[in-house]
Amino acid sequence: MRRDLRTAIATVCLSGTLDDKLAAAAEAGFDGIELFENDLLASRRSPAEIRQRCADLGLSIDLYQPFRDFEAVPPDVLAANLRRAEHKFDVMAELGVDTVLVCSSVSQEAIDDDDLAAEQLHLLGSRAAERGLRIAYEALAWGRFVNGYEHAWRIVRRAAHPALGVCLDSFHILSKGDDPRAIRAIPGEKIFFLQLADAPVLPMDVLQWSRHHRLFPGQGDFDLTTFTRNVLDAGYRGPLSLEVFNDVFRQSDPYRAAVDALRSLVSLQDSLRLLDIPAAPVSTGYAFAEVVGETNLAGLGFTRTGVHRSKPVELWTQGEARVLVNANGEPGAIGALGIAVPDPAAAAQRAKIMLAPPLSRTAGPGEAPLTAIAAPDGTEIFLCANDDWLGDFVPTGESSPGAGITGIDHVALTQPFDNFDEATLFYRAVLGLEPGATAEFAAPFGLVRVRGVSGGVRLTLDAALVRRGGWAPAVAEPQHIAFTCTDAVECARTLRQLGARLLEIPGNYYDDLAARTGLPAERIEVLREQSVLYDRDSDGEYLHFYTELAGARVFFEVVQRVGGYRGFGVLNAPLRMAAHHDARVLRT
Ligand code: MG
Ligand code: MG
Repeated sequence: MRRDLRTAIATVCLSGTLDDKLAAAAEAGFDGIELFENDLLASRRSPAEIRQRCADLGLSIDLYQPFRDFEAVPPDVLAANLRRAEHKFDVMAELGVDTVLVCSSVSQEAIDDDDLAAEQLHLLGSRAAERGLRIAYEALAWGRFVNGYEHAWRIVRRAAHPALGVCLDSFHILSKGDDPRAIRAIPGEKIFFLQLADAPVLPMDVLQWSRHHRLFPGQGDFDLTTFTRNVLDAGYRGPLSLEVFNDVFRQSDPYRAAVDALRSLVSLQDSLRLLDIPAAPVSTGYAFAEVVGETNLAGLGFTRTGVHRSKPVELWTQGEARVLVNANGEPGAIGALGIAVPDPAAAAQRAKIMLAPPLSRTAGPGEAPLTAIAAPDGTEIFLCANDDWLGDFVPTGESSPGAGITGIDHVALTQPFDNFDEATLFYRAVLGLEPGATAEFAAPFGLVRVRGVSGGVRLTLDAALVRRGGWAPAVAEPQHIAFTCTDAVECARTLRQLGARLLEIPGNYYDDLAARTGLPAERIEVLREQSVLYDRDSDGEYLHFYTELAGARVFFEVVQRVGGYRGFGVLNAPLRMAAHHDARVLRT
């Protein structure tokens, strides 16, 4: 792999004390850090000791920050501000860092006067230059008078001091919808620093948005690829540095968060075509999905077609759908997913570069060697050619007529809330799956967030937003495999005849469905009779139904996609959750 650009992370991105943050950044493989002043203040190490610690860990200190409320002030305030600056310069000299971030003023003492701002920043630049230091001026999106990067650059250009440049922060620029193309007009040597953060698009106060909801690149809705390309085209050659304030990351294991963070920069560089690595695999679908523990697949029309040569694993098939039933492991969970890719070795190499944790596998003599990696929720992901691995199963010769299931549509995995954004990036970086829009819905026992990721395979990732206290009647961390069929009503009818336990949907749903869709009464009656749920969008329709729980937390869905419907019937998820609850209560 070629790495053109250095990587850095602001200490504020990570949880813990300064020692935790430095160790985590170094272990993940970052080249440098931005040192946040509060982390320095709370550390028992002197600045010289922090410098030594970073050197020992192989980390450079690329930026010291922040220095607030400096420019465009009356003379007495300026004198005090220069005194503050000199103290920071002393600290920086001891730290061995040459650049300080000065963010645009939010002070009531500041004046709306670009000439004065330029004059005072020139003075600050001179003071810095005397010490061999540099000033990177950043426009905060909520700066009192300077809140856009082009404005900050006009002031820096007017100040015309070699030790004064700009810091570009993707959040401050993209959150306001500012066009990043004008960055190309800034000479690269005047862009002193680049801070990268993604975010979901949220219509809210920009300061709160910034403080709580920033994400690592590739996890949110901003186009960081185009943004960064503009900065690189301008000639910037400093580090790609992450500055992400996020409520979850601030309290997550910093070692894990640092890997997630570095993955975002590797993936960003890949999207910029700066890395010589295998392209994201174009999956041809699910090779298999594995369920752990006793599962009645015969009741769903599956046939046990193979038994593994060396492991307690059975292969059940119907149409193109292949389900492995593994007697080992945590019962009632989806243990593994086989993703069919054209070149498993290349996909494995890419996964490694994208920092996917490898899983060691034991293959018996003559068995297919499969590369497995761990997804953030622990699911084992096998990267395999579509059917090389089938040779590991001894055919049983059994057969059955089936029930009309034709393949696997998607797999739904509940994520631990703290890994939700990490999981999105993982599937995007490793497998090239594109995330869809994030949806939130009110489920019977709490608010649930869900996001689909799709490419050659589809997954839905969901998470309960808040899970506190003892009132928890919902199925904990449910998972399901959704199978495809060509006629959901007919398939449901056949499965009932086979004795499958399908979820019963209340009549109220169908009364409402008739009113809001205007579907013909006969069609509504057929759906009602078979408890088939319905959704549609501008491109097509989605008919789907569910089984009762087949284990502690696993169930199955059968879906019929009509036309170009791209969703997952999320609208109907609360119905399904209530029905699962009722089925469990009524049966016990
Ligand atoms: Mg910033
Ligand atoms: Mg589903």
